[in-house]
Amino acid sequence: MSEMTAVRMTAWRKPPEVVRIPVPEPGPGEVLVKVAGAGVCHSDLHVMDWPAGTLPYDLPFTLGHETAGWVHTLGPGTHGSGLREGDAVLVYGPWGCGVCPSCARGAENYCRRAPELKAAGGGLGADGGMAEYAIVPSPRLLTPLGDLDPRTAAPLTDAALTPYHAVKRSLHRLVPGTAAVVIGVGGLGHMAVQLLKALGPADVIAVDTASDKLDLAAGAGADHCVPAGEDAAERIRDLTDGLGASLVLDCVGADATMATAAGAAAAESDITVVGLAGGTLPFRYGTLPWEAAVTIPYWGTRPELAEVVALAQAGRIRPHVEIHPLEEAVETYRLLREGRIGGRAVLVPEG
Ligand SMILES: [Zn+2]
Ligand SMILES: [Zn+2]
Repeated sequence: MSEMTAVRMTAWRKPPEVVRIPVPEPGPGEVLVKVAGAGVCHSDLHVMDWPAGTLPYDLPFTLGHETAGWVHTLGPGTHGSGLREGDAVLVYGPWGCGVCPSCARGAENYCRRAPELKAAGGGLGADGGMAEYAIVPSPRLLTPLGDLDPRTAAPLTDAALTPYHAVKRSLHRLVPGTAAVVIGVGGLGHMAVQLLKALGPADVIAVDTASDKLDLAAGAGADHCVPAGEDAAERIRDLTDGLGASLVLDCVGADATMATAAGAAAAESDITVVGLAGGTLPFRYGTLPWEAAVTIPYWGTRPELAEVVALAQAGRIRPHVEIHPLEEAVETYRLLREGRIGGRAVLVPEG
């Protein structure tokens, strides 16, 4: 049996391991994808750092929940799916049951049977895309990429889909004359800036601690860049005639960034937290602007992923990608933890 390289979570609170495992064979209904690239997401660091028992996943499993590649082998029963071997595809990340009312409308991120499932998706309890090949349980979880290069397109399925979902639900607020704030210009944040510019007329203000991340935001189209810190909210109020922002997207989710979000938000705004740092935002009279709504959305839907791909195909959004060899996964996660990745790192298998 042929073997492949894979990056696996083998223990909680330990770095992953690069190992050799058998190439899997697709069973009935499944598709084997030859991986072109797998994005290195900050949420994996949280998964690695949490103690055993925090997540219901069995170890080991292959990491990588942001995967793109080519259809390699169609498993039994999938030949009528419309997919052909060699097609470039993006793997939709949250794998639901496929048939509950949420899954039926493509919102597998909110599958009603999630508590029964042992994994949230490939790379999140089930084997994911940080390998030469990956099993995808159903053709419905594959979005055709057309002419897009699957290596640089991999981040679309999380780094773009997550902020896309978060921004789309607030578009009714982002009328001309309003502003939107993106806190944390990493993998998700640099896509959020591009998405806001592509989807609406709001002024976009980026906030980060690092000047190179603010440069990335400016290159991504941000109208204003504000260094993170205690006076960031005041700077944002100055930039918005004292009104604040109609959407504040916090891609970090720490105490400090959520305090900035509350301080920068306008009346009748959305404070939307997509970062997983686990901070707390006091919610009582006087701590938030009137009628501000706070929400923590999770990922996005399958129809939204097709919309994200359409934006990328039209050249309206483009992930800023650093390519790293799959074998250097442990080193790449370390660079991410140290804040030394610009945009998104994508692990690419050799050959
Ligand atoms: Zn992620
Ligand atoms: Zn479901």
